[in-house]
Amino acid sequence: MRHLRLTFDDGPDPVWTPRILDALSAASLRATFFVIAKRAAAHSAIVRRACAEGHAVELHCDAHIRHTELSPHEGREDTRRALARLAALDVRPARWRTPWGVQAAWTADVAREHNLELCHWDVDTHDWRGDSAESMLAATGPSLRDDAVVLLHDGLGPGARREGCGETLRYVRLLAGELTA
Ligand SMILES: [Zn+2]
Repeated sequence: MRHLRLTFDDGPDPVWTPRILDALSAASLRATFFVIAKRAAAHSAIVRRACAEGHAVELHCDAHIRHTELSPHEGREDTRRALARLAALDVRPARWRTPWGVQAAWTADVAREHNLELCHWDVDTHDWRGDSAESMLAATGPSLRDDAVVLLHDGLGPGARREGCGETLRYVRLLAGELTA
């Protein structure tokens, strides 16, 4: 295994995202951040840093709500708001991972309207549960084949059962060790 696609949802977080960027940079790894636009606007320096360091900043949402709980109009408005906030930071997403990966009947239409490619994942670390880095590595190890898309979180979304993203940071460091070994 030499190449994984690390993806981070729910950031940027003022504490954890810079630490994860440090860890990626130390290992010369590039990742994709599916951001909550509201948080991106509040922490624009972190978004600029991620872009400057060669990471992709893509769309997660503005409000973190399942698409199945939004009307088509509400979904369109959330997406429009999110893209406007990101455009103000010179970020123009090409990819979209929806909250919880949930799509509604309208999701594909809205994606098409904004030329967004809908993205899922291959390997779920379940890092939001608060598992240790070692147990996440043990659980995901067998599925970490070349080019697998790995789901991680650099911020705490609704339903997160942990206080911070320290184990995600440690998981990235452990994985980086294996990738560069
Ligand atoms: Zn999320």
